[in-house]
Amino acid sequence: MHDFLLAKEIVGEVLAVAKEKGLSKVEKVSIEIGLIAMAHDGHAEHTEDISVENLQFGISAITKGTILEKTIFVSEKVAGEHWKLTELEGS
Ligand SMILES: [Zn+2]
Repeated sequence: MHDFLLAKEIVGEVLAVAKEKGLSKVEKVSIEIGLIAMAHDGHAEHTEDISVENLQFGISAITKGTILEKTIFVSEKVAGEHWKLTELEGS
Protein backbone atom coordinates (compact mmCIF):
# COMPACT_ATOMS: atom_id res chain seq x y z
CA MET A 1 0.00 0.00 0.00
CA HIS A 2 2.74 2.46 0.87
CA ASP A 3 4.31 1.74 -2.52
CA PHE A 4 1.48 3.40 -4.40
CA LEU A 5 1.12 6.29 -1.96
CA LEU A 6 4.86 6.83 -2.15
CA ALA A 7 4.79 6.72 -5.96
CA LYS A 8 2.36 9.65 -5.89
CA GLU A 9 4.54 11.54 -3.44
CA ILE A 10 7.70 10.95 -5.49
CA VAL A 11 6.10 11.98 -8.77
CA GLY A 12 4.73 15.15 -7.14
CA GLU A 13 8.16 16.00 -5.77
CA VAL A 14 9.93 15.34 -9.08
CA LEU A 15 7.40 17.48 -10.97
CA ALA A 16 7.89 20.28 -8.43
CA VAL A 17 11.69 20.12 -8.74
CA ALA A 18 11.50 20.00 -12.56
CA LYS A 19 9.24 23.07 -12.54
CA GLU A 20 11.51 24.89 -10.12
CA LYS A 21 14.51 24.21 -12.36
CA GLY A 22 12.58 25.08 -15.51
CA LEU A 23 13.07 21.62 -17.04
CA SER A 24 10.89 20.49 -19.91
CA LYS A 25 12.37 17.01 -19.96
CA VAL A 26 13.61 14.70 -17.23
CA GLU A 27 15.81 11.82 -18.38
CA LYS A 28 16.63 10.11 -15.14
CA VAL A 29 15.68 10.26 -11.49
CA SER A 30 17.47 8.39 -8.72
CA ILE A 31 15.75 7.78 -5.41
CA GLU A 32 16.84 6.28 -2.11
CA ILE A 33 14.10 4.42 -0.30
CA GLY A 34 14.01 3.14 3.24
CA LEU A 35 11.03 2.06 5.32
CA ILE A 36 8.25 4.57 4.88
CA ALA A 37 5.96 5.70 7.69
CA MET A 38 2.45 6.73 6.69
CA ALA A 39 -1.01 7.12 8.13
CA HIS A 40 -3.72 5.92 5.77
CA ASP A 41 -7.12 4.25 5.56
CA GLY A 42 -7.89 5.02 9.18
CA HIS A 43 -4.69 3.42 10.50
CA ALA A 44 -2.31 5.41 12.69
CA GLU A 45 1.12 6.10 11.30
CA HIS A 46 3.15 2.94 10.82
CA THR A 47 6.15 1.91 8.78
CA GLU A 48 6.12 -0.52 5.91
CA ASP A 49 8.76 -1.91 3.61
CA ILE A 50 8.46 -0.66 0.04
CA SER A 51 8.32 -3.05 -2.89
CA VAL A 52 10.41 -1.50 -5.66
CA GLU A 53 8.39 -3.44 -8.23
CA ASN A 54 5.08 -1.97 -7.03
CA LEU A 55 6.68 1.44 -6.76
CA GLN A 56 7.87 1.36 -10.39
CA PHE A 57 4.45 0.14 -11.50
CA GLY A 58 2.76 2.98 -9.62
CA ILE A 59 5.17 5.56 -11.00
CA SER A 60 4.65 4.51 -14.61
CA ALA A 61 0.88 4.57 -14.16
CA ILE A 62 0.90 8.05 -12.61
CA THR A 63 3.39 9.62 -15.04
CA LYS A 64 1.55 8.52 -18.18
CA GLY A 65 0.82 11.64 -20.23
CA THR A 66 3.16 13.86 -18.19
CA ILE A 67 6.71 15.07 -18.92
CA LEU A 68 7.88 12.14 -16.77
CA GLU A 69 6.37 9.50 -19.02
CA LYS A 70 9.77 8.46 -20.45
CA THR A 71 11.86 9.21 -17.39
CA ILE A 72 13.97 6.39 -16.00
CA PHE A 73 13.40 6.01 -12.27
CA VAL A 74 16.19 4.22 -10.45
CA SER A 75 15.28 3.19 -6.90
CA GLU A 76 17.79 2.03 -4.36
CA LYS A 77 16.73 0.47 -1.08
CA VAL A 78 18.58 1.91 1.91
CA ALA A 79 18.44 1.56 5.69
CA GLY A 80 16.44 4.10 7.66
CA GLU A 81 12.92 5.48 7.50
CA HIS A 82 12.98 8.01 4.72
CA TRP A 83 13.14 8.49 1.00
CA LYS A 84 14.94 11.16 -0.95
CA LEU A 85 15.78 12.25 -4.45
CA THR A 86 19.50 11.75 -4.94
CA GLU A 87 19.75 12.70 -8.61
CA LEU A 88 17.64 14.38 -11.24
CA GLU A 89 18.92 14.67 -14.79
CA GLY A 90 16.97 16.77 -17.20
CA SER A 91 17.08 19.65 -19.62
ZN1 LIG B 1 0.31 0.98 5.69
